[in-house]
Order: sequence, then C-alpha cells, then structure tokens
Amino acid sequence: MASDQEKNRQRMKQLLGKPGNGNCADCGAADPEWASYTLGVFVCHSCSGLHRNIAQISKVKSILLDPWSSSELEFMDSLGNNACKAKYEQIVPAFYYCPTQKDCMLLRDQWIRAKYERKEFVCVERQEPYSAGYREGFLWKRGRDNGQYLSRKFILSEREGVLKYFNKHDAREPKAIMKINTVNATFQPTKIGTAHGLQITYLKDNSTRNIFVYHEDGKEMVDWFNAIRAARFHYLQVAFPGTPNSELLSKLSRNYIKEGYMEKTGPKHTEGFKKRWFTMDDRRLMYFKDPLDAYARGEVFIGSKENSYTVLPGLPPNIQGYHWLFGITIVTPDRKFLFACETEEDQKDWIAAFQTVISRPMMPQEYAVEAYFKHKP
Ligand SMILES: [Zn+2]
Repeated sequence: MASDQEKNRQRMKQLLGKPGNGNCADCGAADPEWASYTLGVFVCHSCSGLHRNIAQISKVKSILLDPWSSSELEFMDSLGNNACKAKYEQIVPAFYYCPTQKDCMLLRDQWIRAKYERKEFVCVERQEPYSAGYREGFLWKRGRDNGQYLSRKFILSEREGVLKYFNKHDAREPKAIMKINTVNATFQPTKIGTAHGLQITYLKDNSTRNIFVYHEDGKEMVDWFNAIRAARFHYLQVAFPGTPNSELLSKLSRNYIKEGYMEKTGPKHTEGFKKRWFTMDDRRLMYFKDPLDAYARGEVFIGSKENSYTVLPGLPPNIQGYHWLFGITIVTPDRKFLFACETEEDQKDWIAAFQTVISRPMMPQEYAVEAYFKHKP
C-alpha cells in the first residue's frame, strides 16, 4: 500500500514536469499546487479557490497533500493543461482580456467561469455580449458630488465610436459622450470599495475625467469591460491600418503604473504642502483631493530623459514637506515639482514608477500631448 502511494507520488511529479503543467492553467502562476480531477487541469492555490465556485463541474485536490488514485492520475495524464487549453480556449477573441495572477479576483473568477462553466470559447455565439459591437444596459454609477450610486443607462456603440450614459431612463440626450479612442477601463475593487468596481476614464478637452461604476453580476461587469476592449480594438484597427495586432492589443486597456498619497506644494514652492491622491496613468501624473473625484485638480505630463525630464530623491535645500519626510523632485523642462512621501519605501516605489516612464523614449504622438500641457491655460 505504502509503495503504491509512493509510486503515485512519483507519477504525479512526472505529470507536473510535462509541458504546460508547470504553470497554473488559468492565471499562469508558476508551480501549481492544486489540480481539478474532474477537468484535468493543474492550478495555483488562488485559482483552486475559484474552482470551488463551480464545484458542480470542477473538483479540486491538493497535488501533494491529498491522496491520488491510479485512475485519477491516469485521467490527469490523459488531459493536463495543454490539452485542456486546446479544448476550452479554442476561440478566445484577440481583444478578450486573459487575466494573470496579478489581476483582481473578479477577472480571474469570470475567466474560469467563462472557460469551463459557460464554455464561451468553444461556441462563438456565446461571445455576443462583448463582440457584437453594440451593448446597452444599466450600471450603478457613483454620483459626482454626493458619492451615491444611481442606476444609469449606458450604451456602447462601436459604429459611433462612443460610450455614453443617460441620467434619466427616458432621456434623449446623453449626460456624457465618451469617445472610444480616449476611453480606458480598469478594475479598482480596493479603491472603489466593491469587488466589481470599474473605473472608466476618458478625455474631455484634453483633461482626464473619471467615472466609477459596478454591476452586482460579475459576468455583466466583465462583459462590459471586454466590450469596451473590443470597441477600442475595432477603432485602433481602423485608425492605424497596417499596425500589427500585437501592438494594438497592448493598448486596449491599461492599469495604472502607481497610485497613492503624497504631499505636494505649488509652483512657487512657498505654498504649504498638502496631502493629495496621485495616479500615474501612462505619462499623466494626476492628483486628486479624494481618490474618487470625477476629475483631477491637476495633471502633469512626464516625458523622457532625452527630453529633459528627471526624477531625484529629496527636496531642494530649505524646503520641507508638511508631515512627511521623504522628498521627491521631478524636473521637467518648465519647472520643478516637489513631493513628499510618508515612508522611505513609498518614496522608492514612486521614484521607480517615475523612472519607468522617464526611461521610455517618447512616441511621436506623445509630443503633441506634451505640447498641449505646455500651452495649457
Ligand atoms: Zn492561478
């Protein structure tokens, strides 16, 4: 008996060494510790928890801590991650967001449900909610002034190239029309305070506007997210013909490089330092009084080192933050921006975030954005 168990343990080790089985079938994390013995996939600890949400089709066991019978191992051997990928991910649309281990629970949960439970990537008709080019429905939207969530009708139209929402159910004129070429969507469960919280940004007169939405149903929310990505993909294909899809696909939505509190002073450096919420979104550094404000109090363009942008630790002599000690100076061609962080670690993280932007050469279209910022009233 003991030798049988030992044999099975060895067999399991062999299985884990087979191509594809060394990473989680769902999020790609290295060295999966769990497996679904009804689906035949190896998954990480975190995704195994999500498989428990679909217990009617997926039953999971620990690879090393639970006993495995010979027939179960036989089954795992006959499938495994690569075979299941071929089976369940036959037709994943190019624009569809496939989450990684860094992504929020909602995205990973819905990806697992879409694959194994709803079998969306086996049957193209099931992709209609996000690939039809038009989507209409209600979302809870955070009110700009009172922070209350109210039901609002949203319409996404690929043909018109817009996302819009209406304040009254029977309103003819939308409250906002967001051009799809400037729209970004990013899940922000922690900041918004709800697991399904989505932040949508768009540009209005070249300034960033934020709206915060959610839907109780996780599928609905992720369908909206992928529908927005689909519409952006369509737009980019038309706007930049000949550009390889791989390049366009990286621009469908983006997460922020970094967010958090810092203190800042004004252009004269004599104004008192004030605590503000900062968001580094691509090359735009924005600051807000409240993390959920509809628009930024200010936006700063961060260019590249070739264009005379630098980030330095510390503040000029004779200048101090208000409460916080760990200074950062950003030098731009026009002026210096002074910030202070609460901890040394925070200061390091912010400097690293600024460095990633500054060390990346500017693209032609970014010069236009920089010029706009320079001539901003
Ligand atoms: Zn995983």
